[in-house]
Amino acid sequence: MQNRILVAGAGGFIGGHLVAELLRKGHKDIRAVDIKPFEEWYQRSPKVENLQLDLRLKAACEQAAAGVNQVYNLAADMGGMGFIELNRGLCMLSVLINTHLLMASRDAGVKRYFYASSACVYAADKQTDTNVTGLCEADAYPAMPEDGYGWEKLFSERMCRHFTEDFGLVTRVARFHNVYGPHGTYDGGREKAPAAISRKVIEAKLKGKKEIEIWGNGEQTRSFMYISDCLNGIDRIVSSDKATFPINLGSSEKVSINQLVDIVEDIAGIKLKRRYNLSAPKGVNGRNSDNTIIKQTLGWEPAMPLRTGMEKTYAWIYEQMTKRA
Ligand code: NAD
Repeated sequence: MQNRILVAGAGGFIGGHLVAELLRKGHKDIRAVDIKPFEEWYQRSPKVENLQLDLRLKAACEQAAAGVNQVYNLAADMGGMGFIELNRGLCMLSVLINTHLLMASRDAGVKRYFYASSACVYAADKQTDTNVTGLCEADAYPAMPEDGYGWEKLFSERMCRHFTEDFGLVTRVARFHNVYGPHGTYDGGREKAPAAISRKVIEAKLKGKKEIEIWGNGEQTRSFMYISDCLNGIDRIVSSDKATFPINLGSSEKVSINQLVDIVEDIAGIKLKRRYNLSAPKGVNGRNSDNTIIKQTLGWEPAMPLRTGMEKTYAWIYEQMTKRA
């Protein structure tokens, strides 16, 4: 039986870690695909087949899925709030990636297909309060997701479901809540809050600046999942015969952005004056992951404390920035 694994979006943050993890687990036949030139991939191993392909194209998806047993689709045009609020059309074009990859996987006889969805599928009216209780899976409907990016994710979740119903392709969907860690974007406009705040604090430390700009009033709340928990959760969801519906994969440790800044300042050993930019993109007021269903289904939930994960993330970004300087 063929054992080839396809990781789509392997040049990105989570995809790069996933390839590394699959290699650590002893998988030998891995195909890694991304649209980016190889030198821009965060991680790339010579032990796997690396391909540069635009997976919005059906022919590219057919090439990627040929001879494959299991697909992980982590390819998407995405970023933090600064990117997704200003590039809704680009985000929605990722629908071509998942649609063509599902079709190619069905035709290639793929046995299991994983799709990376997002907490951005959740209805906006359930996230207006910073004191949000965790979002549970049912909160995605009636649908009012994040404009652009969230609609694409919700539509693609449903495509997975219907490919299972109509064609028997086994699919698994996880709704990631903010993932962070080393080997990801920390500048350039697509970075998310943990990396962006780390970068700003490091910049201040290295250049002797006394001030930090924060998007919004800093009271907006989120939870952040460390990359090792994300990989562990993907593996459990893909292997499970019970996780047959879109399921939250996120930490339930809720913090405000101000508290996240406190943590990073503490790691850096500095204190900065905060300047709040109220016209910058800031996303919903409150978002957290309700983990009741993942605990019931898999007997597990992400557990890395934010402080510990941020120490590792800060150290990696610090190293990159000082190397660059
Ligand atoms: P990322 O941007 O680092 O990785 C995505 C990769 O997909 C990039 O390397 C990009 O070049 C690639 N890609 C984009 N268009 C492509 C195309 N047409 N063909 C081939 N490759 C293409 O993002 P990430 O953080 O690693 O996210 C991975 C997945 O998880 C995405 O689907 C994302 O929407 C989802 N997700 C991530 C988070 C998070 O916090 N990181 C949260 C929710 C959902």
